[in-house]
Amino acid sequence: VIQAPAVASKRSTREWQQADAAHFLHPFTDFGALAKKGSRIITKAEGIYLWDSEGKKILDAMSGLWCVNVGYGQNSLVEAATRQMKELPFYNAFFQTATPPAIELAELLAEVTPPNFQHVFFAGSGSEGNDTVVRMVRRYWDILGQPERKVIISRKNGYHGSTMAGASLGGMSYMHAQGGLPIPDITHIDQPYWHEHGHGMDKAEFGKVAASWLEKRILEVGADKVAAFIGEPVQGAGGVIVPPATYWPEIQRICDKYGVLIVSDEVICGFGRTGNWFGCETQGFKPDLMTFAKGVTSGYIPLGGVMVGDRMAKVLIEQGGDFNHGYTYSGHPVASAVAVANIKLIQQLKLVEHVRDDVGPYLAQQFASLKDHPLVGDTETCGLMGAILLVKDKAKNTAFPAEIDIGMVCRGHCFGNGLIMRAVGDRMIIAPPLVMNRAQMDEMMSLIRRCLDLTLADATRNGWL
Ligand code: PMP
Repeated sequence: VIQAPAVASKRSTREWQQADAAHFLHPFTDFGALAKKGSRIITKAEGIYLWDSEGKKILDAMSGLWCVNVGYGQNSLVEAATRQMKELPFYNAFFQTATPPAIELAELLAEVTPPNFQHVFFAGSGSEGNDTVVRMVRRYWDILGQPERKVIISRKNGYHGSTMAGASLGGMSYMHAQGGLPIPDITHIDQPYWHEHGHGMDKAEFGKVAASWLEKRILEVGADKVAAFIGEPVQGAGGVIVPPATYWPEIQRICDKYGVLIVSDEVICGFGRTGNWFGCETQGFKPDLMTFAKGVTSGYIPLGGVMVGDRMAKVLIEQGGDFNHGYTYSGHPVASAVAVANIKLIQQLKLVEHVRDDVGPYLAQQFASLKDHPLVGDTETCGLMGAILLVKDKAKNTAFPAEIDIGMVCRGHCFGNGLIMRAVGDRMIIAPPLVMNRAQMDEMMSLIRRCLDLTLADATRNGWL
């Protein structure tokens, strides 16, 4: 019997940091700067808490990276992986083959997604899911004899991943600046962010105005050239930007008018985050495709994919012939087995209802109460995601100068006080595990208040106000 190697040997924090700096290039990171500063080494987790290599306990209000919906330490997921690894650790789905877990997952996804979704294409991540979207949408129009319908309209400050197609769909200009992006035939309209574009307008009216930018762009490009519109129901990485309730229904109306497909990027919003199984249900629209990842396995193992709605599935299946696309790990049996266990756990624990009826409304109430804080210009929530906008002067609604980077100042206090909250510009954002209860939310709120107070003390002492 060959013993398994020790997964992680015991080393001091300093030793881990040195080895990390010597060999590991981190995502979205200034490699040189991090090598000097040193990484935080996270060593274990349970429920909504993490521990670092110094033994410090941290409340993870970001669910890892928006993904650990069922919280850490769920044994049924571990057991599903172990069982499947022993039984059949890998087989592909290319050559007229399939494995039971992938089939079972496809069936379960058809059950929990809106009724017009009966088919799924598997990938390994959200980015790969969105690469699939680009190819599938263009293939669909080719089959229908409209190959000139190629253009996909997306939004500035949207996030759709980091592969060539994912980053092109995304509207992050700092990503486009590296590597010659976007790829051809992808165009971006402004985001429905009231604080950027809507001042002086009532929010419902602004939602319709922001949606009208889509119609304007469709007409500029030519309706016969537009293949699809893609958006996150609620923008996550862009700063938890919750659109006015009027936005998505109006987007739907416009897409229907011109026959344009709608793609809902559910990588963050899916699997209960917004208080429904999928964000499109919360925001009131009916997409043709849904990209998913993260919450499908609660991040325990990589898996992503695209749900394909009936309108497209019918054409692809009945008229399409070969679709020349797929990944080694499309339908990976271990990842699929974990996803099945995860979705069943979400059902058993009634996490969607828990977010919708209990902790979601409680978070909304708690975040609204932060508006009495001198630094807080606004708060927004949708289910278990939320944002706090930090401002210099509430009465005049002025922002701090960019060089102060007030969000990073606040994030520093969060790290120091055992709370993971992320900064996106001046927006402090959270997306805690869906298993969080009210007492844990109270604990999170008192940490958030403490960090806001410490940030205010910095601002006062340094004369930033
Ligand atoms: N779409 C959205 C909405 C995302 O938030 C992300 C990841 N944050 C992605 C796509 C890309 O997913 P991945 O990092 O798994 O490739």
